[in-house]
Amino acid sequence: MQPTNFYRPTFAQIDLNAIKMNILNLKKHISHSVEVIAVVKANAYGHGDLEVSKTALEAGVSMLAVATPDEAIRLRKNGIESPILVLGASSPSFANVASEHDITVTVFQKDWFLHIPPLPKKLKVHIKIDTGMGRLGITTESELDMLIQTIQQRQDVIIDGVFTHFATADEEDINHFSNQLTKFKLFLQHFPKRPRCIHAANSAASLIHMDSLFDAVRFGISMYGLLPSEHVKKELPFPLVQAMSLHTEVVHVKKVCAGSSVSYGAIYTASENEWIATLPIGYADGMLRGLSGQEVLIQGKRMPIVGKICMDQCMVRLPEQVNIGERVTLIGRQGTEQVTIEEWAQKLQTISYEIPCVLTSRVPRTYTP
Ligand SMILES: *Cc1c(COP(=O)(O)O)cnc(C)c1O
Repeated sequence: MQPTNFYRPTFAQIDLNAIKMNILNLKKHISHSVEVIAVVKANAYGHGDLEVSKTALEAGVSMLAVATPDEAIRLRKNGIESPILVLGASSPSFANVASEHDITVTVFQKDWFLHIPPLPKKLKVHIKIDTGMGRLGITTESELDMLIQTIQQRQDVIIDGVFTHFATADEEDINHFSNQLTKFKLFLQHFPKRPRCIHAANSAASLIHMDSLFDAVRFGISMYGLLPSEHVKKELPFPLVQAMSLHTEVVHVKKVCAGSSVSYGAIYTASENEWIATLPIGYADGMLRGLSGQEVLIQGKRMPIVGKICMDQCMVRLPEQVNIGERVTLIGRQGTEQVTIEEWAQKLQTISYEIPCVLTSRVPRTYTP
């Protein structure tokens, strides 16, 4: 379904039902008592934060998680009333706004509270423990005791949760993962009162490490139908449905003679007389230059991108002439053929996470229910 209000035929389609299915299947896989926190940071991994948040809440998630204070404010300003957790560091100057908007923040330094005046409403916090990720969080048990004491001295702060983050939950070797889990359990014993929500698992852990679920899981990449890693694929408890597909149309077709070249640098030379199509999508859309050689789908068949990818366009070699306006699927299905986000990630020697995140705002997102 091509979006209206746009004159270029390039768009990403987001299948909201796929997101819903992935959440419902996860809920069946984990026990009823475990809540799902939908991770919608970075514009819902490029899928659209508002639409994905609404869908996830309809599917029964209990909380949304974002990376930054600004992402949380954007959700609130657009009418989302569910609990929201900011996973990253918030500055102390955000405390007042957070309490006003009922946004839960992550804390891990006792000095964070030093200059915060009494708050108008209660501020909910989740304490972050660094058990081996080496990014944010408390690293020693005495630090945790002091932080808990600091918070207990305030009437306006509630310890709503405590969490940690795994560095290797998606890998075959469980050694580091197990160490983190053991360490987390030790830290948990320091809470005089059990916080409402203890959570640790990301997508990979929630799919393949049933011993790490606690009260909630933070479901990110696999909510969008993507694999955290190749290892998780081997142990996947249910099939994931990829939510994003990427489409455009052929805007020009020509026959080039053997020996003529295509695109910048004249790197690609036709070895015989060839049909070449021009597509209106390039690296400024997130179709990165490393994707030269990647195949796209036209009329249900795979055809290679030839020559260098330009900022706004790229060229594809066809076996025969096609019509102007012919549908091109860069990510997704046509008939029995499929190009996955994982295939792009492999081509670019990166992880699936990066692909939808780098699709730029020039590419309109369209939604199917
Ligand atoms: C991004 C993030 C997640 C989600 O991880 P996925 O692998 O995408 O499921 C969970 N927890 C934290 C702290 C994160 O930053």
